[in-house]
Amino acid sequence: MSAQLETYEGAATIEKVASLCRRRAFVFPSSDVYGGLGSSYDYGHYGVLLKQNVKNEWQRAMVAERDDIVLLDSAIILHPKVWVASGHLAGFSDPLVDCRTCKLRFRADHLESASCGRKPSKQAGETDDCDLTEARQFNLMFETSIGPVRDEGSVAYLRPETAQGIFVNFKNVTSSMRVKPPFGIAQIGKSFRNEITPGNFLFRMREFEQMEMEYFVPPALAEEQYRYWIDERRRWYLELGMRESHLRVRAHDADELSHYSSETSDLEYLFPIGWSELEGIANRGDFDLRQHAEHSGAKLEWIGQDERYVPHVIEPAAGADRAALAFLVDAYDEEVVADRPRTVLRFHPRLAPVKVAVLPLIGNDSAMVETARGLYEELRRALPAEYDDSAAIGKRYRRQDEIGTPWALTIDHETLEDGTITLRDRDTLAQERIPLESAKAILLDRLEQPWRPRAQR
Ligand code: ATP
Repeated sequence: MSAQLETYEGAATIEKVASLCRRRAFVFPSSDVYGGLGSSYDYGHYGVLLKQNVKNEWQRAMVAERDDIVLLDSAIILHPKVWVASGHLAGFSDPLVDCRTCKLRFRADHLESASCGRKPSKQAGETDDCDLTEARQFNLMFETSIGPVRDEGSVAYLRPETAQGIFVNFKNVTSSMRVKPPFGIAQIGKSFRNEITPGNFLFRMREFEQMEMEYFVPPALAEEQYRYWIDERRRWYLELGMRESHLRVRAHDADELSHYSSETSDLEYLFPIGWSELEGIANRGDFDLRQHAEHSGAKLEWIGQDERYVPHVIEPAAGADRAALAFLVDAYDEEVVADRPRTVLRFHPRLAPVKVAVLPLIGNDSAMVETARGLYEELRRALPAEYDDSAAIGKRYRRQDEIGTPWALTIDHETLEDGTITLRDRDTLAQERIPLESAKAILLDRLEQPWRPRAQR
């Protein structure tokens, strides 16, 4: 494992990344023409492709490459009793105060036992720098109502996590799929939280996508599987090119643990705002299945040939938007090439929204355009490709660098004579001549190769 960094040393800031994202159609502020809506974002073309790649890679690792995990896509609005059983209804409705200085949130009725974020030896609110808001009764869940009449009986909630939809389907899945503990159920979908301290771009949104997997295990295997999933999830980020020095595992202290968890570790990423949670891996014990069994009356247990028990649950819970932000920040780089500044997103090729750009050197040369279009038509069927003949070639390269396209193919005078084209590498800027007809095979082969960020090659 490489040495851990104390502070962020990359070129990225949240502001620079947000500005690039807006300029290059990754992410726009939501409802922009109305001045935006706090902590809501809309994904543009390249952002949709990037986030889709993140989710696809998660699903590939969780489901396609394993035999023991199945998929689920549960409803966003579940039976309101789900949130009673899970503890969300009671657990999220405390009077809360925020400290504007240290950004910590405290239970207004527990201030005596809370320590100040800046000076832990002092009580929250005690120092001159503390700046607490008024107490507010706050439930993180967004409320809505079902049916035409809005009364107490019609109240429902937008889910604040995808996990509960999995627990309440435990019986459906075990009786319809060929699964046996240890096995998992994986779900990707939107979650909603009325966060009171939003900010930092995609890091904390009110509407976001989660990628959660609940792994049901015989109780005796829980500890071992908890460790396994921490390693497994860490490996996933590293394999997708994340810098090792920017990733760490932090075990929760006993006083940080959620009511349902006996142990939790966060995978933290060194964002420009400092080390922050990227994903949580929790050992939830049998809390959830027992709660739902008790509140619903259903028997939520595993019944084998000569065994019967309530499985324990290990949960790796990740955020698709937060992961996309981490990959954006990790990929962001600035350098000077031939006296000109260049901004580049060094995405792992598997995450890059566009894998290859096809560029005729001269945009109004009909022979070059025709050859380039022909190549583009061939490539686009095999991998995400883009054709561009709009400006000077240098400008087109820069644009592809800023959206993180790993390879560009240029069709020039030589192509028309000998059938070779230039393959330009985004990271090394190396240009090599390759035969036009082998372009597709070469790119598909490179996509399969391991890739490391430049600093670690
Ligand atoms: P945090 O402490 O940052 O609020 P959390 O511990 O409440 O996060 P979990 O409930 O464990 O988060 O959710 C699992 C994952 O979902 C988080 O690690 C994060 O990646 C993502 N996530 C949670 N809340 C948000 C949010 N408001 N915006 C974007 N992603 C989120």
